[in-house]
Amino acid sequence: MAPIRCLDPGSLTKLLVAMPDGWGSELRPAIHPHSVGIPKCPRRFLFSKRLGWYKRSWSDALYVGSIFHEILALRYAGHALLPSIESVLQDHTIELERQVLEYRAAHPDLPAPKTDKSRKALALGAALAQTWEEHFPLPANMQILAVEQSMARPLDDINVGPPVEGTVDLVVYDPQHARTWLVDHKTTAYDPATRAAPASFDTQMLLYRALWDSTHPDYPLFGVIHGIIRKPTIRQKKNETLEAYTQRCSEWYDEKFISDPSKSPLSMSHVAFTRLPLTQDAELCGLLRMTGRWHTKAPSLASFPRDSRFCINLSGRLCPYMSLCQQDNPNLWCGILQREGFTKRSQNTYPKAVPALETPQ
Ligand code: SF4
Repeated sequence: MAPIRCLDPGSLTKLLVAMPDGWGSELRPAIHPHSVGIPKCPRRFLFSKRLGWYKRSWSDALYVGSIFHEILALRYAGHALLPSIESVLQDHTIELERQVLEYRAAHPDLPAPKTDKSRKALALGAALAQTWEEHFPLPANMQILAVEQSMARPLDDINVGPPVEGTVDLVVYDPQHARTWLVDHKTTAYDPATRAAPASFDTQMLLYRALWDSTHPDYPLFGVIHGIIRKPTIRQKKNETLEAYTQRCSEWYDEKFISDPSKSPLSMSHVAFTRLPLTQDAELCGLLRMTGRWHTKAPSLASFPRDSRFCINLSGRLCPYMSLCQQDNPNLWCGILQREGFTKRSQNTYPKAVPALETPQ
């Protein structure tokens, strides 16, 4: 890779200000639990997290995960007017088609996304949600405290500039044992046992705990229930109804469950927290301070070095920022962003206020 000419912070700021339609404006800094502790290239962090430039991803995994989570959230929230799975699926399909039209209009010279594949991914997500409910219904004695709740916590007490912000899938209270559990659902293409292996230092879950406990002192979290479902290898056939497809998926899971329970594609595990609370956890505080520094450093190419260990990921995909990174004249970045189909992430917004809960009896 050719060496890049480093600009001083002032000149890069000037360049960013001169970009059209807010493309050069920075996002409000906020730390997200899933990204703390994951090593990353600082230059990529600047492009992605500080400036919010990204290539719209048409990855199937995103569609599967988003509809799976949404259907479960609607069920757990006990929505008074619960929409049918078909109508949720229909809404997602309409939104997908809107995004594709928008993408084609913005980037007429780039290959169009494969919408058929994405539609099948949506059907798969819906089928997974139904299968999960069938195999792991929430025990009747569990009280639901929160569903898809966004939270924020300032970190001034541990000298970290930006706040930490995140959204928890589900929080439940077990009155029999007076324990509060964070429930985290994941869809995966891999063996659930590998994903479920309880990491002794899972920063994402520890930060969710810090967020929750600071706003709900009467319900301190006891641990995490990890719900993991492996995606089946079967896809919806042409003209197959959602009902028939879900039935085939369900049979696939039943068969796998029975044939070898140790390799089941569905797994639920309970993991109690064993680490100290955030303010006493020196290792986690150190990671947060480091992440906070990357969020607030001056946006200079000199202070955001490159780390070529991250140029190719584990699946062999190249870093999407490679063209920008290799361009030794950043004045040409704007043209690269337009040509390669980049989009600007919208400004973060502060989460809604957390509703008060009753004290458990
Ligand atoms: S191409 Fe490599 S060095 Fe450049 S931003 Fe991406 S990961 Fe970093």
